[in-house]
Amino acid sequence: MQIKSKLPDVGVTIFTIMSKLANDHHAINLSQGFPDFGTHPGLLTLVYESMRAGHNQYAPMQGVRDLRERISEKVSELYLADYDPDSEITVTSGATEALFAAISAAVHPGDEVIVLEPAFDSYVPVIQLNGGIPVYVQYTFPDCRIDWDDVRNALSAKTRLIILNSPHNPTGAVFTESDIAELKNILRDTEVLILSDEVYEHIIFDGIRHESVCRYPELRQRSFVVSSFGKTYHTTGWKIGYCLAPAPLSKEFQRVHQFLTFASNTPIQYAYAEFMKNKEIYLSLPAFYQQKRDKFLSLIRDSRFKAVPCCGTYFQMLDYSAISDESDVEFSKRMTIENGVASIPPSVFYHRCVDHKVLRFCFAKKDKTLEKAAERLCRI
Ligand code: PMP
Ligand code: GLN
Repeated sequence: MQIKSKLPDVGVTIFTIMSKLANDHHAINLSQGFPDFGTHPGLLTLVYESMRAGHNQYAPMQGVRDLRERISEKVSELYLADYDPDSEITVTSGATEALFAAISAAVHPGDEVIVLEPAFDSYVPVIQLNGGIPVYVQYTFPDCRIDWDDVRNALSAKTRLIILNSPHNPTGAVFTESDIAELKNILRDTEVLILSDEVYEHIIFDGIRHESVCRYPELRQRSFVVSSFGKTYHTTGWKIGYCLAPAPLSKEFQRVHQFLTFASNTPIQYAYAEFMKNKEIYLSLPAFYQQKRDKFLSLIRDSRFKAVPCCGTYFQMLDYSAISDESDVEFSKRMTIENGVASIPPSVFYHRCVDHKVLRFCFAKKDKTLEKAAERLCRI
């Protein structure tokens, strides 16, 4: 039997393809974004203790209360934003689920959604599954900024949602206060909602402040703000994230969430709730990853790759135009097979496969891994 596809243009994700290619060819995998080092031993102990304490049945649909309280405290301290743990915070099965639930809650058939490209690959398929219409605005290149006039021009009476992502995957660009000021101006007299993907909120460099939309009441009241514990605690496989939104938006969000997954992993939620009390862990993450970024950059300094400035996330884009004029997809595959280093070709983050001759490398790796990979990159 065949069924008519709802996503006829969607193939297997690039993360699956490149990680498989890396494994098949024993290449160093700097493609899919995940650390190759362990999480904190204390966090592992807490998960074990929470299972032993009997936290093994369904969690509340909105998430474990202690965890929602810790999240509320963190956001209040860092962004001076008040979110009520009872009605404005939902714990989800990864940021991916939060993105799905937020888009599904907001977008009706025929609604337009502004997507800033290059865009994380899950946004557009979910818009399409809901009958929405993506309207694309591109980051400038190579300075990786948004020209807000382009966003203004993309707005129409049908615009329902704009999706933001800062720090930005794959470019490493971050929004500044002036970006936020532009955004406020553009949205002031509209009914447009915001979905702000802030999964890299704690991975931001050079003393730059993370401009969470939570900081700005006029943006906060129209926003779903999504984050992920996987990025913050080196636990991408545990798939726990959360969504902050004012009560009326959270209510609609939870209508979807309760039937998407009902509730997320219970013992891990208890463990995170306890572990979050040590604020130093997330507060020290910028320094931890900045050291990795700088190490990677210094290791490839004498290579023929040219770095695109990275202000946040654990991804570094490298320009390979001095080496090859192949497409980024061809070059990344050949480099994986012949040179033993896997990366992500950012053209797949564009609906029209815009190819700037750059590749994205994940530097959330042990120093040894980065050294080995850089040695190979320097030989190309
Ligand atoms: N958004 C962005 C920008 C990401 O890079 C990722 C990475 N996986 C996600 C969302 C999904 O996060 P999670 O693994 O928590 O589902
Ligand atoms: N967010 C990670 C990346 O951009 C991986 C996401 C995934 O594998 N779906 O590499």
